[in-house]
Amino acid sequence: MILDVTDLRKTFPARTGLLGNVIDRVHAVDGISFSIAEGRTLGLVGESGCGKSTVGRAILRLIEPSSGSIRFQGTDIAQLPANELRALRRRMQIVFQDPYSSLNPRQRAGDIVAEPLMVHGIGKASERREMVESIFAKVGLQPRQMSLYPHQFSGGQRQRISIARALSLGPRFIVADEPVSALDVSVQAQVINLLMDLQAQDGLSYLFISHNLAVVEHVSHDVAVMYLGRIVEHTDKASIFAQPLHPYTQALMAAVPVADPSVRRGKKHVMGDVPSPINRPSGCHFHPRCPMVQARCRSEEPMLREVQPGHRVACHLV
Ligand code: SF4
Repeated sequence: MILDVTDLRKTFPARTGLLGNVIDRVHAVDGISFSIAEGRTLGLVGESGCGKSTVGRAILRLIEPSSGSIRFQGTDIAQLPANELRALRRRMQIVFQDPYSSLNPRQRAGDIVAEPLMVHGIGKASERREMVESIFAKVGLQPRQMSLYPHQFSGGQRQRISIARALSLGPRFIVADEPVSALDVSVQAQVINLLMDLQAQDGLSYLFISHNLAVVEHVSHDVAVMYLGRIVEHTDKASIFAQPLHPYTQALMAAVPVADPSVRRGKKHVMGDVPSPINRPSGCHFHPRCPMVQARCRSEEPMLREVQPGHRVACHLV
C-alpha cells in the first residue's frame, strides 16, 4: 500500500460572539480508515460539508490532524517533524478544485511549474527549464505557453498548469480535490483523461475527491462514501455501483442522471440537507434523512463492518 490511514480525526473549535469563545467542537473527520494501493485510485464521495476535503488536506498535513495515523510508503507522517515532512512532500501533492484561485495571476505559467523545483533546490535554471518543458508536453501544453500568464489560458488549460505544478517534483501520490468541478462539462473529460493517462504511464496513486458520482465511477478503482465525517460504505467500484448497500449510497446513486431512459437507478431519494457537524444527530448520523430508519437507528451508532469480502458498510439493516 502507498497510503494507510487509520482512525483519522480532525476537529475544529466552534466559536461564537465578539470574543470568539469556543462553544463546541466541529467533528469534520471522525475516525476514518482506508488504504490506497500503488497505481490505484480511491474515489471519496459525499455531499458538501461531509468532510472529504478536510480528509485530503489532513493526510498531506496541510492542516494538522487531531489524531490518527497516516502511513505513507511505510512512514507514519502524522507525527513527522517539519524538516522530514518537507522531503516527503515531494512524493505527495494536491490538485485543487479551482484553477482560477490556486494559480498566482502575477506569475508566468512556466514559473508556476518551476517554483516547487526551486523551493526544493532541484537543478540549475537551464535544467529546470528543460524539466518544465517536458512537464508541459506531458500535460498537453506547448512549451511556448510557458511565458503566458494564467488569465491567458482557458479553464481547462489552467487546470493542466495546476496538474503540471503537482507533477513537477515527481510525486507518487496525488490528492485531486474536486479537480474538474469548476470546469465546463466539455473540458471535464479531457482533464479526467489526462489524470488517467498519467496514472497509466507513471503508476501514480490518487485520492480523488468529488461530489459527482458519475466522475468517480469513471476514474476510481475503489470508492468510499462519506457522511458527516465518517465513511459509511467502502468497496471496489464494480460492487458499489452494481449493488450499493447503504441507504445513503443508494440515495446518491438514485440522484445520478442516466442517459438511457430504460435504465432505472432506484427511487430511494434522500430528503433535506446534511445536518450541522456541531450538532450531529444521535445514533446513526443519517437517521433524520434515512427512508429506512428504525427505532434503534436513533440511539445506536452503526459500526463500519465488513458485510461481504472487501465491502464495508455502516448500517444496522445491512
Ligand atoms: Fe438508515 Fe438506520 Fe441504516 Fe442509518 S442505520 S442508514 S438510519 S437504516
